Amino acid sequence: MTRTVYVNGEYLPETEAKVSIFDRGFLMADAVYEVTSVLDGKLIDFEGHAVRLKRSLNELQMAEPCSKEELLEIHRKLVELNGIEEGLIYLQVTRGSDGDRDFVFPAEDTKPTLVLFTQNKPGLADSPAAKKGAKIISIDDIRWGRRDIKTTQLLYPSLGKMMAKAAGCDDAWMVEDGHVTEGTSNNAYFVKNGKIVTRPLSSDILHGITRKAVLRMAAEAQMEIEERLFTIDEAKEADEAFTTSASAFVMPVVEIDGVPLGDGTPGPIAKRLREIYLDESRKAAI
Ligand code: PMP
Repeated sequence: MTRTVYVNGEYLPETEAKVSIFDRGFLMADAVYEVTSVLDGKLIDFEGHAVRLKRSLNELQMAEPCSKEELLEIHRKLVELNGIEEGLIYLQVTRGSDGDRDFVFPAEDTKPTLVLFTQNKPGLADSPAAKKGAKIISIDDIRWGRRDIKTTQLLYPSLGKMMAKAAGCDDAWMVEDGHVTEGTSNNAYFVKNGKIVTRPLSSDILHGITRKAVLRMAAEAQMEIEERLFTIDEAKEADEAFTTSASAFVMPVVEIDGVPLGDGTPGPIAKRLREIYLDESRKAAI
């Protein structure tokens, strides 16, 4: 089935949607994005994604393409037009195009490009991958220094996933100066003696919307949390580990660099947090 997508004010069949070849998103990855999940036909944490989008745009002095209310309306309309019960909505804003290539930003009145499309993912919440748990490898983090801005510079994370795949694994955690930063498309945690450990927020990692929600829910469930730097060796010696992201929620990690964690199956805290997160998120969805 052909999807209906959104481009700069229009809802179009995906085959008819067009963006200029001079668009700075295409030429320079001069673009930011958000991915919002859909459960029961409703948006999960739309507010969190809208706030982070605004922050990313501000950090790059990029114009806001429309109001938060209009964004919500576009999200909802795409869900409806494409009949999405479970899935994802991808949103991208670029600095647009003034019809040529130049490192210097285009004129201030250049309109940003706004594109949204849906990805239908039946069974997203009840995922077999989450029941099995993920095997990960560690790789060097060689990305730029403003990972708190959600830009579309995803070449290295994409290469990281391919390195994991080549090693027979599912994903990679990145390591910088001896400490784990985050996963290729998720935030990273391990659990030792009941305590959840994760890297504190800074410009070194993306400020995950799921991270914020999961840490709040873990605290409400009286779980112990420590935000500090940690090494991959600490994670390998953990009782369990997991990642969080809007597209995979809480994903148990069962192996790091060939070392099984615990008994090599998803740990109880990761499983519990996944349940709580899905439950609470469904209730708060809009
Ligand atoms: N870190 C990175 C590098 C990511 O790409 C993502 C997902 N886009 C995350 C963390 C998780 O963020 P969120 O929970 O907002 O999806």
